[in-house]
Amino acid sequence: MPETGNQKLVKKINKSIVLRMIRNHAPISRAAISQKAGLNRGTVSSLVSELLDDKLISESGMGESRGGRKPVILLFNHRAGYSIGIDLGVNYMLGILTDLKGQIVEKQKISFHQLSLEAIIDKMKDMIRNLSAAAPDSPNGIVGIGVGVPGIVDHDGNVLLAPNLGWNNVPLKEILEREFSLPILIENEANAGAYGVKLYGTEEIRENLIYISAGIGVGAGLILNDSLYRGTKGYSGEIGHMVIDVDGKQCRCGRKGCWELYASEQAILEEARSLGLETSKSQPITLEQLVEHAENGDSKVISLFEHAGKYLAEGILNLVNTFNPEQVIIGNRLVMARKWLEPVITERLQAQTMGFNQEDIHVTYSQLSTHASPMGMAAFITQRFLENGLEQTVTN
Ligand SMILES: [Zn+2]
Repeated sequence: MPETGNQKLVKKINKSIVLRMIRNHAPISRAAISQKAGLNRGTVSSLVSELLDDKLISESGMGESRGGRKPVILLFNHRAGYSIGIDLGVNYMLGILTDLKGQIVEKQKISFHQLSLEAIIDKMKDMIRNLSAAAPDSPNGIVGIGVGVPGIVDHDGNVLLAPNLGWNNVPLKEILEREFSLPILIENEANAGAYGVKLYGTEEIRENLIYISAGIGVGAGLILNDSLYRGTKGYSGEIGHMVIDVDGKQCRCGRKGCWELYASEQAILEEARSLGLETSKSQPITLEQLVEHAENGDSKVISLFEHAGKYLAEGILNLVNTFNPEQVIIGNRLVMARKWLEPVITERLQAQTMGFNQEDIHVTYSQLSTHASPMGMAAFITQRFLENGLEQTVTN
């Protein structure tokens, strides 16, 4: 008798439940899955057989025995495939190859300065080819490519606006699909970073958190009730263009006085230039150099960091007062200057949060640094791959 649509859907849901159970609780026996998932043993056995055929899991006879035959236990085969996650920054690109557990197997980083759209895309394709070539042999090979970009991205993977890259309406997903016949996901880098710290951050992660991606620009990813908030059309994340001074500096987004013009790496570098800290035009000063100056006690540079810290704190305060999160995680490149940013941010948050929030807000600094976004992208890809069958049935 052919299966009806509903039966197929139920089977796929159950299969993904069984797989998730093995991913999260391996080593685990069929009996334990049946008990934990509330599925009957026959169903679990047949789904496990399919997953074994798919090479997503493997079995081993090493389970603990309470007398008698040792039970067969199931393991998640985290090397059954590999995901590529790329973080496209304004002046760098960082790509990682991870296994299905999110462990980084290969990493590549390049720096650039004011490249054209075509040149950046070419470099991205090269990076994807290099990372693919580095993947160990596996049953599923590369299962997809995820790219985090510093801009507004719609659900179809179009980059509508990335002011710091000068991109307008770039169909990035389509461009990459033409080159690679693999699932492709494009997402705002702050959203990707929020997901990355949620999954892989060392911090204790709470249900409602705001991840601040403080790099060349500033973005924020919101995890609300434990899931990423993308907005109606996926446009969330570009909070760096929240106006904090209506008559302020002109931003590349077309507005004036955007938050990131005062609180980002770019803002700090511009101030450093205006103070004459740049020694040569051909070699622009870097954040790494400024951190070195600050380490050596350069008070001018320290006050640059403190100034940016004040503005970072003001934007964070606006977000905290709007969303009432339990946790704020500051990540990306500016974490490098934590030593000088943190005291200012802590002080301002303590002094100015509206009464009820004060005690409850935990501010931490992500150790993942620039890796949060590519790790989040790779994780999106892995999740989609593992739940693929289910998704296809739901959308078809
Ligand atoms: Zn702006």
